[in-house]
Amino acid sequence: MSSTFRRSCAEAAARTVSNAHHYIREDGTIVEVCITGRDDGDFHVKCDRDGLVSRRAAVMPGAWAVANQVHGARVVEADPVVVTDADALITSEIGQPIAVQGADCAPIAFITNRGPVAVAHAGWRGLAAGVVGETIGRLRVDGAETRCAIVGPTIGPECYAFGANDLDHVASLLGDVVRGKTATGAPALDLRAAITSAFATHDVTDVRFVAGCTACGVAGFSHRARAECERHALVARILPGNPE
Ligand SMILES: [Zn+2]
Repeated sequence: MSSTFRRSCAEAAARTVSNAHHYIREDGTIVEVCITGRDDGDFHVKCDRDGLVSRRAAVMPGAWAVANQVHGARVVEADPVVVTDADALITSEIGQPIAVQGADCAPIAFITNRGPVAVAHAGWRGLAAGVVGETIGRLRVDGAETRCAIVGPTIGPECYAFGANDLDHVASLLGDVVRGKTATGAPALDLRAAITSAFATHDVTDVRFVAGCTACGVAGFSHRARAECERHALVARILPGNPE
């Protein structure tokens, strides 16, 4: 890992939602990641088309590739025209925006050393299905190692009461670190710990949570806390880098 890359990753953690984060990679290219906030509006893939196009353009130019998210582990090649059922998108094309949407589930960018990048939508079902490992594996097949994960707004354990059986199931897959407590002391899922564990299983230890809780914070929308239909977005693209 180059020192430049490490420094870029560290700097990004201090920045706020809606800002663009830039990661310089070992091959000289740059990965840009933008995370929208409530003020940026609704990025649900099924919301009104005209408004969505202009909202997307205000965040990152180009035809965004998105998926119809189904809480699974399927990784697909980015296609700005076709929207298929999947929860992770990968691209090697310079300038092609790839995006996932969330409202409690985690939007994640996979920052690689070179070549393709990926984004994934990961709630507890997707994590249990193995979306993190599937995405890291697909990037590896295409010649890239995941160096760093950038995670946007997601629900915190203090707001995420969770059924005992489901909690046992997630803990059996990702360890007891996923067992949290709500603000009132009830059993909760710690989604951030689950994400960190899923990446650690695949030897990725640099996982950065750059936004707060969707439910008790102002970072994004929350399906669980406020029954909101809107979605915030995490969008990434590869930039050619500085030619010098
Ligand atoms: Zn919270």
